[in-house]
Amino acid sequence: MTSPADRLQAVRARIAAAARAAGRDPATVSLLAVSKTWPAGAVRELAALGQGDFGENRAQELIGKAAELADLPLRWHFVGQLQRNKAAGVARLGAVVHSVDRMSLARALARVGTEAGRPVEVFLQVDLGGPEGELAVRGGADPADVPALADAVAAEEGVVLRGLMAVAPRGTEPGPAFARLAALAERVRRDHPGARELSAGMSADLEEAIAAGSTLVRVGTALAGVRPLPSREDESHPSHGSQQPG
Ligand SMILES: *Cc1c(COP(=O)(O)O)cnc(C)c1O
Repeated sequence: MTSPADRLQAVRARIAAAARAAGRDPATVSLLAVSKTWPAGAVRELAALGQGDFGENRAQELIGKAAELADLPLRWHFVGQLQRNKAAGVARLGAVVHSVDRMSLARALARVGTEAGRPVEVFLQVDLGGPEGELAVRGGADPADVPALADAVAAEEGVVLRGLMAVAPRGTEPGPAFARLAALAERVRRDHPGARELSAGMSADLEEAIAAGSTLVRVGTALAGVRPLPSREDESHPSHGSQQPG
């Protein structure tokens, strides 16, 4: 049984080693702790160890945990499929949204950002494909559509385009998919120099993602120790994260 401090330390060490192996400064890769299915107390423990960024993939869970932990200076991220009618609730928390894959969602977030006088930070989620019929993270824009989507999102007042996000296809070596993502990110950066972040890499593939240029890894399982039991909501809406062995 490892402690949260041991696990955080181990993940940070993996990030640093992967960065150095790629000839990169470890400080250029940040860690997003994906706290879906964790009780609020587990978030609090990691926050006490200096972890400030947390991600959720269900709007209700994000809103509930943010309320429960409102005394902490946390930065929330949303990494799941977001319906337009839930977008406002997530955006009002100041959450960074990693899963924008269509203009209707970008516009819904932009409305909140404009109203609040604080633009919503967004990533465009790219669909890197995957084995047919598998349970995987749904959503993500077709790579061919991403440059035009980036132009349209960047032109919206109430959002700021931070970069691209993706989940590697399951059951295959992640390197080639991350390389395609990195090439697309490079192309988007040419027209949108501010969109310099790349949200890629999870517990199982953060090394490959960092080698490809990831600036933000999203890690759940490796920080949680044992995989938490799926919540009821997860049982009715299977997701990549709750299905994939760590
Ligand atoms: C759950 C999840 C993660 C974290 O995955 P682990 O394999 O548990 O590290 C990262 N990104 C997304 C989009 C997720 O849903």
